[in-house]
Amino acid sequence: MINSKERSKVKKRSLIERLNSGPVICAEGFLFEIEKRGYMSSGEFVPMVSLEHPEALENLHRDFQHAGSDIVQAFTYNGHREKMKLIGKEKLLEPLNRAALKIAKKVATSPIGNEPNLMAGNISNSNIWNNKDSKTQLEVEKMFSEMVGWAVEEGADILIGETFYYAEEAYKALEVMKKSGLPSVITIAPMGENIMRDGVSIVDTCKELEQLGGDVVGMNCFRGPNTMMPYLKEIRKALKCHVAALPITYRTTEKDPTFFNLTDNNGCTCATPHRTTFPTALDPMQCSRYEIGKFAKDAYSLGINYLGVCCGANPMLIREVAESVGLKVPASKYRENMSHHFIYGTHKKIPKHMKDYGDKA
Ligand SMILES: [Zn+2]
Repeated sequence: MINSKERSKVKKRSLIERLNSGPVICAEGFLFEIEKRGYMSSGEFVPMVSLEHPEALENLHRDFQHAGSDIVQAFTYNGHREKMKLIGKEKLLEPLNRAALKIAKKVATSPIGNEPNLMAGNISNSNIWNNKDSKTQLEVEKMFSEMVGWAVEEGADILIGETFYYAEEAYKALEVMKKSGLPSVITIAPMGENIMRDGVSIVDTCKELEQLGGDVVGMNCFRGPNTMMPYLKEIRKALKCHVAALPITYRTTEKDPTFFNLTDNNGCTCATPHRTTFPTALDPMQCSRYEIGKFAKDAYSLGINYLGVCCGANPMLIREVAESVGLKVPASKYRENMSHHFIYGTHKKIPKHMKDYGDKA
């Protein structure tokens, strides 16, 4: 490892330079992980953590960085004017955004590895966009503009617009991001109808985003590996620019393509599936690290270089994504080492009577 003086001499490559030379890892999924760590209310999902527990947010960024995330994405998801109005804390909007950006910048500029990370400003689905109401569209544009403005002022290297389920809202987000002059990543999150809510197909939306100047275009959130991959294949074929793939970590199905409608009986023995899983009881549908690793490997082999995980992400899964595409990251030091396991280990010091007991354990 190099010291900070030497590191300051290492040139910080741009996002596109990094993507042109190999995989770039981006951890998303802050909402679920911060909630699990006890610093956010599920359902309401407002990222007050940057003001109320900045140390917890910084820790999560550092954990993701240790696991191999090249991008430190400021946690401003849902930290927009509409959401802050909804909870009666509109006056905290700008402080919340600036605090989240400053924390991300602090982590990005003190990397564990040799090269500084990229700090990303973030805008996302407004949830008020209405394709039949131009007044809401203007409101959304204003929300995007103010958040992008703060991100630029706080030193963002790139911008990420994500989780859009209206095509036109994604176009608007990209238009606003492009005005900043920063490299722009834009990812969409079609819901269970497998089409954008304003009727544009998934692939056509991505094609248009490329035409509008998206540097990286792709999909994030709502869909697990199984129901995102078919579209990624089409998108990769249709686009020339770099493509992004950041699924949720749950076992979505053709019947339930997104995590919103996944059913599980939560331990109840009655025959009727209960729809009580989203968002607090998805755990039984969690993908293993190997499923996430396979997804990343498959996506990378298609030519998708911008890889990560969205809701359900944790540092272990980020490390798995990184390692699946051939990277060694700081947390690789702690990847599983079954050779020393007390039953399944292969080490000669593991007693034979323990090794022989494996099938009955
Ligand atoms: Zn997500």
